[in-house]
Amino acid sequence: MKNLKTLEDLFHHQLRDIYNAEQQISKALPEMVEEASENNLKQAFKDHLDETKNQIARLEKIGDRLDIELTGETCDAMKGLIEESKELVSKDADDNVRDAGIIADAQRIEHYEISAYGTVREYAKALDEREIADQLNQTLQEEANADEKLNKLAMDAVNPKAKVQK
Ligand code: ZN
Ligand code: FE
Ligand code: FE
Ligand code: FE
Repeated sequence: MKNLKTLEDLFHHQLRDIYNAEQQISKALPEMVEEASENNLKQAFKDHLDETKNQIARLEKIGDRLDIELTGETCDAMKGLIEESKELVSKDADDNVRDAGIIADAQRIEHYEISAYGTVREYAKALDEREIADQLNQTLQEEANADEKLNKLAMDAVNPKAKVQK
């Protein structure tokens, strides 16, 4: 029997993938709080860590509702994105330049999530799971807001400082 016979199977697979990705992110964010120098950036990561924990709980509720296990999948893409961000912080960099780099890596992570949640929200709609679609949309909005916040921090505060040589 094929593992992925229907859109519903693919939906469940994608939920497991993003569930694992969120868990990896929740483990990586405290380190990003530590590595960031700009206080507003630290705070943005702290806030998003709280949100991420909520998002994990939201996915668990969805798993319960669908009566599926969410564990057992590894999101290799998120593993790679997080690895790259760790590579960056290990480099000898000026604080402001490091902050700019951390934001770049964090935005790659948010964009991955935006893509993943957009997909599962549409699958939920296609499968007539309106309530689940709404919950996934809520997370999608949080990811989009996090990305926008990082954008603003980079453009208004971090990038201009990183331009100046010390
Ligand atoms: Zn996968
Ligand atoms: Fe998330
Ligand atoms: Fe993945
Ligand atoms: Fe996120």
